Amino acid sequence: MSKIVGIDLGTTNSLVAYMDGKEPKVIADLEGRTLVPSVISVDDQGWIVGERAKQRLLTHPKTTVYSVKRLMGKGLVDAQEERKYFPVSLSEKQPGVIQIELGQYRLTPPELSALILKEVKQRAEEFLGSTVTQAVVTVPAYFNDSQRQATKDAGRIAGLDVLRIVNEPTAACLAYGLQKKKQGVIAVYDLGGGTFDISILKVTKGIFEVLATNGNTQLGGDDLDQRLMELVLRDIQQEFGQDLRKHVESIQQIRLEVEKAKRRLSDEDVTELVIPIEQGMVYRRPMKRVELESLVKDLIDLTIGPCRQALEDAHLSPKDVDEVVLVGGSTRMPLVRRTVEEIFHQTPHCEINPDEVVALGAAVQADILAGGIQDMLLLDVTPLSLGIETMGGGMSVLIPRNSTVPTGAKELFTTFVDGQRSVDIHVFQGERELVKDNRSLARFQLKELDPLPAGMPRIEVNFTIDANGILHVGAKDLRSGREQSVEVKPSYGLSDDDVTRMIQESFKFAKSDMDARQLIEARNEAATILRHTERALNQGGQLIEPDERDRIGDRMTALKTAAEGDDHRLIRERIVQLDKATVRLAESLMESTLQSGLKDKKLSELP
Ligand code: AMP
Repeated sequence: MSKIVGIDLGTTNSLVAYMDGKEPKVIADLEGRTLVPSVISVDDQGWIVGERAKQRLLTHPKTTVYSVKRLMGKGLVDAQEERKYFPVSLSEKQPGVIQIELGQYRLTPPELSALILKEVKQRAEEFLGSTVTQAVVTVPAYFNDSQRQATKDAGRIAGLDVLRIVNEPTAACLAYGLQKKKQGVIAVYDLGGGTFDISILKVTKGIFEVLATNGNTQLGGDDLDQRLMELVLRDIQQEFGQDLRKHVESIQQIRLEVEKAKRRLSDEDVTELVIPIEQGMVYRRPMKRVELESLVKDLIDLTIGPCRQALEDAHLSPKDVDEVVLVGGSTRMPLVRRTVEEIFHQTPHCEINPDEVVALGAAVQADILAGGIQDMLLLDVTPLSLGIETMGGGMSVLIPRNSTVPTGAKELFTTFVDGQRSVDIHVFQGERELVKDNRSLARFQLKELDPLPAGMPRIEVNFTIDANGILHVGAKDLRSGREQSVEVKPSYGLSDDDVTRMIQESFKFAKSDMDARQLIEARNEAATILRHTERALNQGGQLIEPDERDRIGDRMTALKTAAEGDDHRLIRERIVQLDKATVRLAESLMESTLQSGLKDKKLSELP
């Protein structure tokens, strides 16, 4: 029986793993390299993938491409941000499908990713000595329907049946065997070469649920290299009077050297940067780990906000997190580990190589599918709500955001005009009330209805999301029993930013609801404290100095003014100020009450 392999199809590097008995293992090439750079190039002889393609990045920039994963399942409108970073030319093959120009070729992202998949498939076949036709492929947890579809398409083009698409953080948990936990919350912190992702997962008896995701699609080890490179370029200009910024080859060499130095500084306290420049001149610079850390600390700190936001979205605090798992090469840096410890107040798991952990988890999932590991189900949740447009442009949600997949929903539709022969069904994804604020995912027509009076036909529309998170839509005319096979082609993919924006917008509205509640609470509290202060002044105003009385009066007025406004924070601030101003008054009142209570009492009567 041929093996099902697990593939981590990464932005920077890809890996393939298999199950060797009970142990997942990554497959290396003959030179022992496990990572296949996700870079593709083309020359007269054909396609070049991996390490050799990476070496051509600078020499053949027009025919070499990297980071294709960023374009998966996207149209040009969704890839505005990415376009800035792609040196190759992008166009659109059809609305929603990008085309990348490489010399005389024009390929879509799934076709290019298929070349990477073919490469890892071949590597696995050579190693295992048999053909490989089935695989589990991982994707980021935030990948939407189009991006997952595109990943499946890439597999199909490469001759691989993608049995399951698994979320990368879920795979990382599987590699650590965290499915064995009865219950727990796991944070997966993934800092790679070009992207940062944080995912909060819940595991209950082997079932994983993604509670929240967040991240930064433009932050990773490459940015640290860039910082180091700028430092070196400035140094070289000062020392040798040479501006190498425009020297493509020198830049590449410096980039390689600083990246190596950065890696060394994860294990050593000090290293030396040695970079040969033209005419036998050599740039040398000792560098301490602390220097590197102060140079890039602000970049690593950029991961803190998304972690906090993800926790907030999951309605959790750091103390609720039971385990933290590190993924991505950059998490080898001690500074990153310290930052993670500060965020989650615990030591993260880093026993498994962070470059390999996702691929290893994919192999574990492959083994589950092959029947090797049983009693385990994997569940994920939908990142955004799915629904259809109703009359007047409203969004009728069929499957709410965060529904556990696989899932399904049905809704009945009818016609609005007598004799209507077709119905337009428009599928949207998003969190807002009106479809105009959400994104169109697909549109189809249900045709050949019997001509009946308006409102008579009963058409059942069926949404299902399979275990891979991919949407299927079916429609059935209940009167005639006729089912229409509806092929849903995504109109265009959602950009990561869109998903983030949509979620954020929905939170923003949720936030304004929360603000309103806080305002009411703050006003109530202000009214109470004002009433109490007034009473206390009446009872004991004469016990304190006149200036103190005046100060209390001023603060009461300030609080009254704030309570008429709608800033709950200001009201709270002024409550605190008034509270502070009344400390003496409260003490004096207590003393006098105590004294009057003691008056006329003998010592022996005291408790
Ligand atoms: P990935 O995308 O997960 O393959 O991560 C690759 C990134 O990890 C690159 O930016 C590498 O420079 C970085 N990286 C790999 N090993 C180390 C290390 N030992 N110390 C610091 N960064 C590393």
